[in-house]
Amino acid sequence: MSAFEVKTQVRRIAAAEYNLLPLLAKKRTEENLQFFRYLQRIPATKLDELAMPVASRNIEAIDCTQCANCCKTLEPGLHEHEIAVLAKHSGMDSQTFQAQHIHREADTGIWFLRPMPCLFLRQNRCTIYEVRPECCRDYPHLLRQGLKFRLRSVLRNYTICPIVFNTLEELKMVTGFFQQSEDQKG
Ligand code: SF4
Ligand code: SF4
Repeated sequence: MSAFEVKTQVRRIAAAEYNLLPLLAKKRTEENLQFFRYLQRIPATKLDELAMPVASRNIEAIDCTQCANCCKTLEPGLHEHEIAVLAKHSGMDSQTFQAQHIHREADTGIWFLRPMPCLFLRQNRCTIYEVRPECCRDYPHLLRQGLKFRLRSVLRNYTICPIVFNTLEELKMVTGFFQQSEDQKG
């Protein structure tokens, strides 16, 4: 087994290892499908009770300045009032900023900041940290109620964010998923 193959067995990665995530996610497509089916049996409030402390611990444990992958690969959604704040901090006039850096999704009407990587990112740090959009503050969206109803977006973030990867892998243990898989084999 090669060193890289060994790496794909891991259940926890460091912030700087975010580039492993697409491959790890691909290798676990079937396992994650089964896990999400298994989660359907757990009541939503119970799942939140189990997931919140795990997510909090993993958020604490990761140094985002070693990663910044969300700021490199996602366009944050914006509230309309946030556009003016960002324009002010960009050094551009509002019209130019909007024309160059804001687009609105036709079907949802949601505003997004572009391009990727984010124009406010410098050396893995947000240069407007104190006034960053709510979407950026909330990412990776694990401390909200109703995890069970957001599994599709969680799975997407599993390929991007070490916090989400580590949280989901820990949840496979905490929820008893691995144990029941073993029981089924036996
Ligand atoms: S939130 Fe996730 S993707 Fe974003 S910088 Fe932190 S670890 Fe990386
Ligand atoms: S505004 Fe800051 S936190 Fe949000 S994507 Fe840009 S660099 Fe990242």
